[in-house]
Amino acid sequence: MKHFLGERAAGIAPYVAGEQPADRRYVKLNTNENPYPPSPEAVKALRGFAAETLNRYPQPCSDRLREAIARAEGVAPENVFCSNGSDETLFLCFAAFFDRTAPVCFAELTYSFYAVYAAFFGVESVTVPLCEGYRIDLDAMRNTPCKGYFIANPNAPTGVGIPRAAFEQFLKAVPDRLVIADEAYMDFYGESLASVAAKYDNLLVVKTFSKSYSLAGIRCGYALGSSALIEGLNRVKDCMNSYPVDSVCAAVCAAAIADGAYREKTARQVCGERDRVRAELLKLGFTVPESGANFLFAGKGKIAGGALYARLKENGVLVRHWDTPALCDFCRITVGTPTENDFLLKTIKTILG
Ligand SMILES: *Cc1c(COP(=O)(O)O)cnc(C)c1O
Repeated sequence: MKHFLGERAAGIAPYVAGEQPADRRYVKLNTNENPYPPSPEAVKALRGFAAETLNRYPQPCSDRLREAIARAEGVAPENVFCSNGSDETLFLCFAAFFDRTAPVCFAELTYSFYAVYAAFFGVESVTVPLCEGYRIDLDAMRNTPCKGYFIANPNAPTGVGIPRAAFEQFLKAVPDRLVIADEAYMDFYGESLASVAAKYDNLLVVKTFSKSYSLAGIRCGYALGSSALIEGLNRVKDCMNSYPVDSVCAAVCAAAIADGAYREKTARQVCGERDRVRAELLKLGFTVPESGANFLFAGKGKIAGGALYARLKENGVLVRHWDTPALCDFCRITVGTPTENDFLLKTIKTILG
């Protein structure tokens, strides 16, 4: 089969998603899903969906969903772009705004999809090491020549966030460069730039229904920015798939985003548990940067990262571990329900003896 691959497909190293093993039941803390079900309003929208209308294509630009998002985020509908998940938005950002003529810049330790997409599109990527406290080094990034940036805020897999004021200062310092703020975990941090996205010519905020809205299974995301940037995304969308968001997805997500109270309540529960689990892991001797996300980056304890991952898996707990030199000392642990977190902590204590 390999000889049929085109040059582009043959030359890339694809992103590797977290494992989804089916050999037994696991306490699944490895892909940053929300442990709570989606909003009852979203469930109701799905149950009430008029399935007999599925003979028709959905709205090409998801107008009703865009309006619901615009209302919730405090922007105008023309400042919203809907997609089949944030990963798709990020892919389309590369297609729309980057090419071989200038590099893209991101942190050395960040969401690994950025590097995959850059390679796929033949865009040169320049990476900037994290600074003290596992923080993204905005000063160094500002001084790195490039066409633009991808910044996960809070960052993955460290969980460390950038406060709104510091991010805005950065935006103002690089007015001629495009800044893509990937706010996949922002609802667990509360320093979003979403409501001001359209006020900056150089900012695109990328968000998802997968994490704080508990809708990873339905695949939906959106971007917020000036109408010029949104128009750029629509250009490339219409070279790829005119109807990325299906009608069922649009109805469910519109109901989910209108129920901000439910999202806030579940996010508060997750954040409370995150801080409790972090305190316990610190007591056990792990290094754990303060997290603004729904996961913890824990390592350098009495046990190596790979060994902790393997022993947890034997005991029915899945966490994420990477073998690269920068990450191998750590595991990324998604925050679960209180019961799941208790089981995690009890298991770690047993492993440590
Ligand atoms: C989970 C995640 C995404 C992907 O979101 P989807 O909408 O599920 O594709 C994007 N960026 C970061 C940093 C993430 O962790």
